[in-house]
Order: sequence, then C-alpha cells, then structure tokens
Amino acid sequence: MPRVLMLYTGGTIGMQPSPHGYVPSAGLAERLAAHLALGDPYRLPAFDVVEMQPLIDSAELMPEAWNRLVAVLERHWQHYDAFIILHGTDTMAYSAAALSFMLGALNKPVIFTGSQIPLGEPRSDALNNVVSALQLAAHPATPCEVSLLFHDRLLRGNRARKVRTQGLDAFDSPNFPWLAEIGIGMIFPQPSALLSGEPSFSPLQLDDEAVAGLTLHPGMSLRRAKALLEDATLKGLVISSYGVGNPPNFEGELLNAMQAANERGVALLNITQCAQGEVVQGAYATGAALNPAGVIAGGDITLEAAVAKLTVLLGQGLSGPALRKALSAPMRGEATAR
Ligand code: ASP
Repeated sequence: MPRVLMLYTGGTIGMQPSPHGYVPSAGLAERLAAHLALGDPYRLPAFDVVEMQPLIDSAELMPEAWNRLVAVLERHWQHYDAFIILHGTDTMAYSAAALSFMLGALNKPVIFTGSQIPLGEPRSDALNNVVSALQLAAHPATPCEVSLLFHDRLLRGNRARKVRTQGLDAFDSPNFPWLAEIGIGMIFPQPSALLSGEPSFSPLQLDDEAVAGLTLHPGMSLRRAKALLEDATLKGLVISSYGVGNPPNFEGELLNAMQAANERGVALLNITQCAQGEVVQGAYATGAALNPAGVIAGGDITLEAAVAKLTVLLGQGLSGPALRKALSAPMRGEATAR
C-alpha cells in the first residue's frame, strides 16, 4: 500500500466553533483517526499528518504560504508516494494553481481537498472528501499532477474554481473536463497528457505588491484604472474584461494607459469575466485594440490560475519578453493551447 502525507493548512475541514464563528483548530490527526476508526473497511493507505504553523482561514493566505508548502513537500518527497493538502476552500484554487506552476512536472500526485462543513458536524462532507482523496492517492490511474478533489470530482488544480458558496459541490473546472469522477467506482475519462518528471522545489521571491486585478464594469472610473496602471510597484495586472476579451474604449485613454504600463515592463494579461469560455482578442474591434497595446490574451485561463501564474513567474525573476512569452502559452495545462 502506498504511503500518503497529509498537510493540514487550516480551513473549514478542521475548524471548530468559537463565539465569533469557525476558527482553525489544531489536533486534526487525532480527530481524523477517530472518525475514520481505522481504515481497514475502506482499505485506505497509511497516512501521516503534518500541521502547518500557523493554521489559517485560507482567506488570510498570502503568496509566501506557497513557499512554505513547497518546502514541506520537498522535506518529505522521497518518503511518501502521494500528498494530500487539506486547505480552506476560499483560496484553494489559487494555491493549487500556484503549486502546479512552482513544482512543474511531477512524478507523484499532489491532491488538494477540504470541506464545506467541518469534520464532526452533522452532514459534514469532510470525511467523504478525505476518504476519496486517500483512495485516489493510492490509485494507479490518478495523474501525477496537482489536482483538487471535492465532492466526488477530481479536477486539474490550475483549472479549478470555487463555484458555489453553499453547495457541497463547491468546485468545478468550467473550461476543462474532470480528471476523474467518483461514484461506486472511480472513472478516469482519459490519461493525463502532462509530462511527468522530478519537481522543482526552488523557493521564489514572492512579492505581495506585484500583481493586481482590474475588473471592468459599466461605470468603471478611468481615473482609478489609470491610477492602478501607473502604480510604480505594479509588475503584473490581470484584466477581467467582458465576453471574449473586450474592454471599454474611453476614447483611447484606457488603451494609452495600458500601453504605457506595458512599455514600463508591466505584464498585462486579459481574461474573460464570463464563467465559461475564452478570450479571443480580435473578434471585436474593442478587443483587437488590446493587441498593439501589448495586452496578452489569456485564452481560457481562470482568474485564480492567472493571478497564481503571474505571481509565480514574477517570483521566478522573469520579466520583459521572457515573462510575456511564458504568459502567452500554457505551462501546466492551465489553458487550452491554440
Ligand atoms: N474560510 C474558510 C477557508 O477558506 C472556508 C472553507 O474552508 O471552506 O479557510
């Protein structure tokens, strides 16, 4: 039986009630063992639990936490066959995407999971998600990539999104098929097309100030958008535009500000604010104008993967044409190659 390491970072799965609402709580390993009542009936693989310090509500997550996760994986990589990361649902898709880019090619599965209801509460989804993640960790067809297991679906980590605040089926990957579906059995529709290999564990120079998001909307202030584009600390901007990638024109002023930012070396990545689909920068004149301004079309990348990819590439020290090139093509299956 393979050996599995579980990293517990915090999140609802291990939270307990407090007078102010759920808070992260230590000692998950013992509580899990009591709930699983030993794995024999499920034939679960043996696992150890490492608790990260401090345990956090994932809404508090900052990019530096990704370096700490990678460091723990590096320390234990040779001693385990698969890794499960128990993470809060709020930013799980960001962390899964970031780790997919940081680690690169993998020769073992890394599976993120969590729950909507804490372990031990009535109707909790924690045990089902943990048991499914453990079974997937031991399954030979589980892809050696960073994935996200939630409510009986295994998703590519950098394609996943939290799509429901209340439903137990909280995650989906709107632009990419599920990697596996779990019912009575486990169905893997197709083998992973990602190349496997030895991961990279290099820590990154992560800068919390470097990346920002700009969501376009009717009534958006040109003045505020320009202030963001002119911010001296900005190194990468994810622009959530309309439909297939269209911005408003503001008589050319927004484009001029984007072009000036691009010339200063700021990477501008255009994604759609639609729940499903891709950017086609050129289908409409409004979107086509972004091409000469140096805005990179993000295809069908999600917001979470776009933010994580920009943050990781900047943290790897990329800039200028090398950064633009890396942003223009898929790195780890996060966008559909055109
Ligand atoms: N706020 C929690 C977190 O992300 C929500 C959850 O885990 O479901 O840590």
